Amino acid sequence: MKIGSHVSMASPEYLLGAVKEALSYKANALMIYTGPPQNTRRKPVSEMKVEEAHALMREYAIDADSLIIHAPYIINLANSAKAETFELAVEFLTKEIERVKEIGAHVLVLHPGSHVGMGEDAGLDQIVHGLDEAMKQIGDVQIALETMAGKGSELGYRFEQMRYLMDHAKYKDNLKICMDTCHIHDAGYDLNHFDDVLEEFDQIIGLDRLACMHINDSKNSKGARKDRHANLGFGEIGFSLLNGIVHHPKLQNVVKILETPYVDEKPPYRYEIAMLNKGCFDEAVLEHIRKGD
Ligand code: FE
Ligand code: FE
Ligand code: ZN
Repeated sequence: MKIGSHVSMASPEYLLGAVKEALSYKANALMIYTGPPQNTRRKPVSEMKVEEAHALMREYAIDADSLIIHAPYIINLANSAKAETFELAVEFLTKEIERVKEIGAHVLVLHPGSHVGMGEDAGLDQIVHGLDEAMKQIGDVQIALETMAGKGSELGYRFEQMRYLMDHAKYKDNLKICMDTCHIHDAGYDLNHFDDVLEEFDQIIGLDRLACMHINDSKNSKGARKDRHANLGFGEIGFSLLNGIVHHPKLQNVVKILETPYVDEKPPYRYEIAMLNKGCFDEAVLEHIRKGD
């Protein structure tokens, strides 16, 4: 199983520090933002200690496909109301694709976008337009559109919307999906019947297009369209369903990334990864995380 979490990429060690952080959680996969997720200022990749990071990854048999990049969530390709916002998104995404190549990764997770009141159809068409503009030099980078909770005017909360994007975009072969368990639950998919959800996904999109997954519990009930992540076993999805998803035979080769919240400012990932590897829930996990033991 390939499992990890999102890790930080801070000065001075950047990507090398990110890999070290992942290893400290006994992870064999990781996800990074190329800088602060809430803004678009970025350091040149030449300063990010990429060579050293890949050497360390090789030492621990972490392949480049297990290094996932997440685009910052402020870029909104669906905005057809404000030209500047859209153009900024296209420009940033174009550069981000170049950074992904320089970093030596292959998968870039992207939130499709929010239509900001212009309507879902206009939003989806604007995303297609933005992808076509930004993906001109896509090379072998895969853009993994993330399934969204449907909060506000977010798009991508139905598999059919993803299908629409894939059908209409120019560089369709480079479009994949990142399935987020909290988001699909919040969007109304019933994880109690995950096999049916997966079957529906396969019918509409195709399982071969699933590039990675985000494994999160949810603070809200199914269909709430809220998007608030909970620690595994402390939300409305629950540990056993999430554990079943993580170990699902059809998802064996899919990279899984935890984005669960810190507990008292401490990362929960070492403990959550251990629970998933064992396949059993530890009632006292939050206390262990707090104590760091
Ligand atoms: Fe995301
Ligand atoms: Fe996510
Ligand atoms: Zn989320």
